[in-house]
Parts: sequence; structure tokens; C-alpha cells
Amino acid sequence: MNVTVVLKVGREKSLLRRHPWVFEGAIDKVIGKARTGTTVDIVDNAGKWLAKGAYSPESQIRVRTWTFDQSEAIDDAFFKRRISKALQTKAQWFEHANTNAWRLVAAESDGLPGVTIDKYDDVIVMQLLSAGPEKHKAKIVNALKGLFPEHVIHERSDVAVRTKEGLEPVVNTHTGTLPDKVIIEENAIKIEVDLLAGHKTGFYLDQRENRKIAGQYCANKRVLNCFSYTGTFSLYALKGDAKEIVNVDVSQSALETSKRNHLFNFSEAQLRAVSHVKADVFELLREYRDSGKRFDVIVMDPPKFVENKRHLDRAARGYKDINRLACELLNEGGMLITFSCSGLVSQDLFNKIVADAALDASTELGYLRKLEQDGDHIVASSFPEGAYLKGLVCVKR
Ligand code: SAH
Repeated sequence: MNVTVVLKVGREKSLLRRHPWVFEGAIDKVIGKARTGTTVDIVDNAGKWLAKGAYSPESQIRVRTWTFDQSEAIDDAFFKRRISKALQTKAQWFEHANTNAWRLVAAESDGLPGVTIDKYDDVIVMQLLSAGPEKHKAKIVNALKGLFPEHVIHERSDVAVRTKEGLEPVVNTHTGTLPDKVIIEENAIKIEVDLLAGHKTGFYLDQRENRKIAGQYCANKRVLNCFSYTGTFSLYALKGDAKEIVNVDVSQSALETSKRNHLFNFSEAQLRAVSHVKADVFELLREYRDSGKRFDVIVMDPPKFVENKRHLDRAARGYKDINRLACELLNEGGMLITFSCSGLVSQDLFNKIVADAALDASTELGYLRKLEQDGDHIVASSFPEGAYLKGLVCVKR
């Protein structure tokens, strides 16, 4: 029996613009028994067919659209088509990129809501975030096996957002033998990716281009890399001839990985310029300010501060605090390269937060350029929410 989701009057507008989400509040009624991940037909209030999507009974985003084509079945061939298309799209990008690690499927923006697939050399890591992909997992794995026959296919669906969908965390190697680690290479820099416990699917691929840009501002500079994780901004800074680099993170294991990453790429003599400090950034910046330590370049790449709208104010205060301190620690003419990966913080809001931070620090910043996620993290024109990472290169003057 087909299940049909009938929208309230006027609530079809976003689907007509091919935006893939149907919120709980837009639904008038559900005809039939929809279970977790059931493929449902979505119709407007007058019964006109709009789309097919996956039903998520426990999420506010109640349906995520698979297709706007009524004749398209959600079967093995569907997933193969979508993943092949994503691969073709990415081919346009990686032709000009210099890396063996990149995002193959960027969820909604590649027509597969709730599906993230990254490629780390010959290991494919997939992360399934919502009910639909969970139900069709075998089809997704089959499509990947067909397209990447020599690869390990590993699943890291161990993310907190799955609880909003009533799904358990899952970690599983579907084919091949998973190594603990893989060394990837981007822009001729070697980086260790922890496939078992690394953030996201293992690593921050989205910052690749921004690391490269940041490195270009570091020649002969004293650099402070806040929230350094595995030290990748530092690797690019050193490659860019930084005079001194201080990496700061609270995680000892991240700092250890960072040290190994430096050893993979540089000689001991070069590494004399690099130090690692285990500390809370909020506290350490205050200590540095009070003791008169100053830097020429500060990279500020914190974790996501906002998970939902209720936390937006608190998050904005957090961003403002660290950016104000950074302004205070910068030498005149120094550069602040600052990011927010919170989807709920728009570029406009982020510009304002950084502006307020500068004001509170009694400095003026010039915004030299805006930064965003690298191109393999593609943003569909119908899905502006796909643009989650924003950054600013600012000069203190
Ligand atoms: N810049 C990194 C990614 C940062 S991820 C890159 O390009 O790869 C966020 C990091 O912030 C994590 O390593 C986490 O351990 C660290 N972290 C979170 N809160 C922190 C805090 N208050 N002080 C210092 N580090 C923190």
C-alpha cells in the first residue's frame, strides 16, 4: 500500500522550488501507515503529486525528498544513478584539485539527503544520518561496491543527529579490511586520517582550500593556530615559511596526531618553529593577552557551537569572545583567519559577530576575503542550507 503525505494548503511552495525537506508543521495528514524510512508520495492539498521521499517519524524534518520524478523508483538503480552522478560532478572538481581524499556525496546537495560519502585514498567512508538512507543501506553499499570495486567500504554512522531520527549509532566495515589509519595527501602534504575515531567521517576535508589560502599569509610570521586538531593549518603555515607556529587544542590525542603529521612532512630543523600546547583556547588567549604575547596570524577554527536555534545566542557570544581576544592578540597589520562551521550562523551574522568582536577590542578589521567550504562539498542551488562553512580573512588596522 502506498503511503501519501498530504501537505497543508500553500505549503507546497518549497517543494516546487525543489527544496528537499518537508517539515512536520507543513503536513495536513498522512494516508496509510508510514514507518521509519518508508518511501512516501507527497501531494499538495488538492492532491497534485509533488515528490517522493523518505519518512522520518521522529524528526521535525518529517520527509526528505528522494525524487521529483513520479516514474523514478527508489531501487538499486536509483542509488547507483545518484552516486554515479555525484562522481561525475566531482570529476569536474578534482581535475583541478591536488588530493586523493574528497567528498563524493554531499547529502542533499548531491540528491541523497542524509547520505555523506567521503573517499580517503582507497577507503570509502559513508555516514548515514536519517531514516531513509538507513532503510536503503544495502542498496547504497551495493552501488559503492560496483563503482569502487577495489576499495574498502566502511560505515561511520556514529553521529549524535541520528538520535533525532530514533536511530542507533552504527560502525561497520561492509567490505574489505579497514586499516586503523590512512595517510592521505593533499597539495603535496601528507596527513594521517584516523578512520576509527576521527571527527566527521575521519577528517575536515571541507577546509582544504582554506588551509592553502591561510598558508599563503604566513611567510615569516608568528602564527597561532587555535583549535588545531590534527594540525593541518599548521602544516600549510610551515610550508608557507612561517617563522613560528603555536598549535592549541584541548585534546591530547589530537595534539599527538598533529605532531606525527608534522614529522611526516618536515625535517627536525624545520620543526623547531612549531610547538603544541594542550589548553582551553578561551583560557589560553586570556593568559597570552595578559602576559603580552602577540602574533601576526591567528587561525580560529572552532568546533560547531550551535546545534539548534535555542543555542544561537550563546554560540554568538562564544564566537565573539574568541574573536575579540584574537583581535587583542594580533600585532598591527596582523591577520585573523576565522571560521564558523555552524549552519545556523549565516555569513551575514558571522560578519556582524566578528565586527562586534573588533569593536569590543577597540580595533578595526578589514575583511580581505570571504572563505567557504571547498568545492567537493558542493551546494545545490535549491538547497542554500548546504553552505554551512563560512570564514573571513581579516586584517587588523
Ligand atoms: N582546525 C581543525 C579542525 C578543528 S576541530 C582542522 O582544520 O582540522 C575542533 C577542535 O577543537 C577539536 O580538535 C577539539 O579537540 C578542539 N576543541 C574544542 N573545544 C576546545 C577548547 N575550548 N579549547 C581548545 N580546543 C578545543
